[in-house]
Amino acid sequence: MLKKERLFTPGPTALLPQAQAAMAAMGLHHRTPEFRAVFTSTLQRLRAFLGTRNEVLLLASSGTGAMEAAVANLLSPGERVLILSAGKFGERWQKLAQAFGASVDLVQLPYGESFGGEHVQGRCGGANPPRLLLLQASESSTGCKHDVAAIARAARAENPGILIVIDGITGVGTQQLDIDAWDLDIVVGGSQKAVMMAPGLAYLSVSERAWTAMETAKSQRFYFDLRRERKSQQQGESAFTPAIGLIAALNAALEYIETIGGRAGLTANAETLGAATRAALDALGLQRFGNGAPSGALTAIEMPAGLDAGLVVKALRQQFGSVVANGQGEMKGQMIRVAHIGYYDFAETLSLIAQLEIVLAQLGKLDRAKLGAGVRAAQTYYLALQQAAPAAAKA
Ligand SMILES: *Cc1c(COP(=O)(O)O)cnc(C)c1O
Repeated sequence: MLKKERLFTPGPTALLPQAQAAMAAMGLHHRTPEFRAVFTSTLQRLRAFLGTRNEVLLLASSGTGAMEAAVANLLSPGERVLILSAGKFGERWQKLAQAFGASVDLVQLPYGESFGGEHVQGRCGGANPPRLLLLQASESSTGCKHDVAAIARAARAENPGILIVIDGITGVGTQQLDIDAWDLDIVVGGSQKAVMMAPGLAYLSVSERAWTAMETAKSQRFYFDLRRERKSQQQGESAFTPAIGLIAALNAALEYIETIGGRAGLTANAETLGAATRAALDALGLQRFGNGAPSGALTAIEMPAGLDAGLVVKALRQQFGSVVANGQGEMKGQMIRVAHIGYYDFAETLSLIAQLEIVLAQLGKLDRAKLGAGVRAAQTYYLALQQAAPAAAKA
């Protein structure tokens, strides 16, 4: 049987054809007025997409590069850093901060739980307060999101000058994130997630407070010196050779995203697909991983007892061309992770639920009498949604 390969992984995510075409067509040299126009337009769109008055920069790196840039530009060795960690990406912040000589104050929750304001209370002030607060908006390794608004509010109440840095790599475009109202100093994103394109670009918004802090921060930095990038990018250039093709792709992707209601439209889409998937899980007697607040970016589906997730990952790929993610690190084998972030629609989400039912039946973990129960729950969810907001469902 014919099969099409489709990514359902929470990064890299499915590619937007228009963005791919724009990348293939881009042949400009970067020190030309034509490219400067593309770069400037992309930065403007990105800022509108993020909905912030803060300056926004693009870097040629994966998302982790921008995470590193945030730490390298804001921190001096030996300074205290408060980190909230409940998954593999929280652990990445920890390793990164340690690599830059931070004195790390770690707040840990079990994998699959979510942080709220109470988890930073009593930790941000005092005689030697932390300089930085680092956390994820959405923890892609567990499928849970954190309450960024409440955390930022609680942290600022104790320490108005604390620098709040958000790994929004799967949070942007999947959950509410108000950079200006919540006073977030740096928010990081990556090209291979919500913005529907190939890996290789990272972006970040930078507050005035953060620009000021960079003048005195003493960590070593060169390629990721944001002050130099800022000067260049204000002129429509970057300090070094930009990822020319990827910038053209991002411009096209953001143009498309504007047509679906911008970041709010994208977020609503992801949240709808996530809710439909959870309705299917309930009907099938399956659980989400953990007890935290579900991220709109992905659903982490816990495997029934005695079933290795690797078998499900393999069967979905071999039979249907559908690529889902296994658990990361110690969580490998326990779950599959299915993306809603970026370029996914209801039709393919329904299809994936149907595929999962087939695979579970083959592996002896779903009674054949229950085939279709998940699909039916998602269909019912869709119909209810359409009744509640017919215009939105049609759009
Ligand atoms: C994908 C992802 C990253 C970045 O990973 P890169 O491989 O460096 O792009 C960071 N944080 C989260 C939460 C992610 O999902």
